[in-house]
Amino acid sequence: MSDDCLFCSFVSGDPQPDVVHETESTLAFRDINPQAPTHVLVVPKQHHANVADLSANAPNTLLALFDAIREVADAEGLGDRFRLVFNTGSEAGQSVFHVHAHVLGGRSMGWPPG
Ligand code: AMP
Ligand code: ZN
Repeated sequence: MSDDCLFCSFVSGDPQPDVVHETESTLAFRDINPQAPTHVLVVPKQHHANVADLSANAPNTLLALFDAIREVADAEGLGDRFRLVFNTGSEAGQSVFHVHAHVLGGRSMGWPPG
């Protein structure tokens, strides 16, 4: 738990996001500003600033996060048609510094990303 972290607050349940999936170590909820018909954020309950920190410091939690991502994609009917994004650092577009996977689907997508 980190002070002044929006996603740690969501893990604590105050305020409560629009939760779609939860495990012992992960929480998934709908993005408030969706960029695709399905746009879910999947986070570890433990606070880590970004995916590099998570992988270096809590590899088992990283594995649990990827299990949760697969289960969210299945539950949302995305199957094997989704985009997974970890914005890492403000230059890459990260605005909330609690690691989160964006699971985006339900439309076709271009490349390269902006
Ligand atoms: P990023 O820019 O990669 O750090 O992603 C942060 C994401 O959090 C953005 O897509 C925001 O739309 C989303 N977000 C910000 N505030 C909320 C909120 N209160 N509930 C759900 N999603 C949020
Ligand atoms: Zn946090």
